Amino acid sequence: MPEFVEIRTEPEEEKPELDVPFELLDLNLLKPHEELDPNELEAFIESVTGSGIFWKAALVSKEGYVILDGHHRWAGLKKLNAKVMPCILLDYVNNPEVKVYTWYPFIIGSLNHLIDVLKNIEEIELIYESNKDTVVEKVESMEAAFGLIHSDTNKKFILIAGDDDPYDLQKIIIKHLINDQKIQLGYIDTIKGAEELLVQGKAVAYFVRRAPKKKEIVERASKGKVYPPKTTRHSLPFVPKKIHISLEKLINP
Ligand code: AMP
Repeated sequence: MPEFVEIRTEPEEEKPELDVPFELLDLNLLKPHEELDPNELEAFIESVTGSGIFWKAALVSKEGYVILDGHHRWAGLKKLNAKVMPCILLDYVNNPEVKVYTWYPFIIGSLNHLIDVLKNIEEIELIYESNKDTVVEKVESMEAAFGLIHSDTNKKFILIAGDDDPYDLQKIIIKHLINDQKIQLGYIDTIKGAEELLVQGKAVAYFVRRAPKKKEIVERASKGKVYPPKTTRHSLPFVPKKIHISLEKLINP
């Protein structure tokens, strides 16, 4: 199984399970808004080809058919020559029930090595900052693409900025991190959870980043532009019930 670390601290199990209707939508109709994580893509393909069953419908916006949740399922099914994917269509932009958050990338490995990797990325500038709240504020106002928080009291935190669009800068940085053999990249759903990883010594650092707004997501996807992997984390007040559809039916609908 390829290694893909994703930590959810907010349990989905506490939400009611709902039998939500889904549709089989043409894969070519759907618009992604995020890049893929190669390890997560491989993990999905192994899972669906292993069991031959597709059990989790994707979430798609009625506005512009943007994939909200299901990028790796979509790309994996495409790779397997499927034609359609089970999708739950949602009113999105003005629907207060659909919330958008982000995933926070965290690093397992050496902090010094991580900082060296960052220093060698041409497109970015590292700005040292001792106040954690300032780091978060500057990221929220998009003055910086990422804020690097760590637990080494001898070092300052780091704001990562540059001339490009902050999300394009994030993409460049994440590519470098994925390709580096000495560190492992994971994702966690809350800053509180990320802080706990530092305290427990399970991670050496995490990145704070701004969650894009729903309108921005639809606009960016409609232009054919995507965000870095796992930029958005969409949340509904319920968990859609598992479905049970054979992969074969998605290949030959
Ligand atoms: P994403 O499509 O980006 O949400 O990422 C892959 C998702 O596929 C993960 O959330 C997995 O829970 C899910 N998954 C794994 N195996 C299957 C399967 N056989 N059928 C449907 N979904 C799956």
